[in-house]
Amino acid sequence: MYDVVISGAGPSGCQCAEVLAKAGYKVALIEKNVNWRKPCGGAVHSSVIDLYPQLKKLSIPKIIGVVLHSADYHKLEFKGAGNEYSIIIDRLELDNIMRDAAVDAGVELFDKHLSFDYVIKNQKKVGIIAKSPNGSKEYHGNIIIVADGMSSKLAFKSGIKSKWKIDEIAIGNCAIMKGNHQLDEECVYVYFKPYQGYGWIFPLNKKRFNIGVFTFGKDNLNHNIYDIYKEFISNPKVKKYIPSSNSSILWSSSYAFPAEGVMEKSLYTDNLMLIGDAGGFVSPISGEGIQTSVISGKISAETAIKALQEEDYSKNNLKTYKSNPEIKSIIQNFKLKRSMIKFFYENNGQNLNKMLDLAKKDLKFREQVVNMFTYGEIPSKDFIAKIND
Ligand SMILES: Cc1cc2nc3c(=O)[nH]c(=O)nc-3n(C[C@H](O)[C@H](O)[C@H](O)COP(=O)(O)OP(=O)(O)OC[C@H]3O[C@@H](n4cnc5c(N)ncnc54)[C@H](O)[C@@H]3O)c2cc1C
Repeated sequence: MYDVVISGAGPSGCQCAEVLAKAGYKVALIEKNVNWRKPCGGAVHSSVIDLYPQLKKLSIPKIIGVVLHSADYHKLEFKGAGNEYSIIIDRLELDNIMRDAAVDAGVELFDKHLSFDYVIKNQKKVGIIAKSPNGSKEYHGNIIIVADGMSSKLAFKSGIKSKWKIDEIAIGNCAIMKGNHQLDEECVYVYFKPYQGYGWIFPLNKKRFNIGVFTFGKDNLNHNIYDIYKEFISNPKVKKYIPSSNSSILWSSSYAFPAEGVMEKSLYTDNLMLIGDAGGFVSPISGEGIQTSVISGKISAETAIKALQEEDYSKNNLKTYKSNPEIKSIIQNFKLKRSMIKFFYENNGQNLNKMLDLAKKDLKFREQVVNMFTYGEIPSKDFIAKIND
């Protein structure tokens, strides 16, 4: 019997497990395979590094700038002046650092365990059933946390979430490549598309980079992700940074992420919470989800601690997960981002084309564009009028 049983040892599940174990609770963390590399760009915000100081020891260069390209290849480069930064890391390394931190805090990690259903007693979900190398195993707990990402079976079986529809998700394909590159190691490179999606090149070090593309919403149906990826890596505007004569693919894979923001109505029920990708904690447009998944993990753990102290695991008591100010602010921020999608991709990306073109000529306008991408500032009426001019 555990206090909390968590399905999925990715960023959200590991953070949740660690916070609970540090508070003295008995936690089972169920993971299908610690050797699986989650398909991801691997861009991690500095606030995550603050929670995992181990990452600092890796001496990974700080990303402080962006090189943006519109669909017609207008370019805008900028570097931030604040304290915030990102690093680019191989997800296999990141996830295993997070798992080790959870285990060091006292979490019991069960690798090679594929959770597929709940243990039900008196019509209540009292645990998780997982396939293990030694057959089916049951893990019982007072609280169940679903942290097993996009492909989560438990999220749908919870009864609070329906299956993803194709236009609610983003579909990505990415690779880690080895070879000389001409990338500024302090910058990420982003290429917007004339449809909903973008391509990226993120430098991992002097000789490695992560490269990929994704589409989202209704454009998942209009474009084949593998064709887009092939076009992207052979595009001359991309190849100029990564001359292919000496580069090789170390790993590549495809995966999906939620594209509609946090699923406010499907976050919790009696003795159960959904966190990370399983709860929709991925930023619309950019697709960043590591930082927000970790926050959802932390807040769900704090909610669980309070419920365990009060011995009240009811839906009514777990509602403080959603009403927590950090979660509310993520929900709000993602709503704003969603409202900007139409503006970004209108008329086959014309607004973005014009925006980056104007930014080249007008310094004040440029500043507004930079603020929009750096701090998520919503474009003013004047700003939009200039684009529509
Ligand atoms: C192509 C792509 C690029 C991305 N790029 C970025 C980026 O650069 N920066 C960023 O911040 N975000 C990025 N994201 C989003 C980011 O990957 C996720 O938001 C983040 O990984 C969510 O963490 P999580 O712990 O909720 O889920 P996941 O990272 O998906 O972890 C889920 C864990 O559960 C395990 N699991 C799954 N099913 C089961 C099961 N049945 N039983 C047991 N265990 C199971 C998995 O093995 C995994 O360890 C990207 C996503 C994609 C698809």
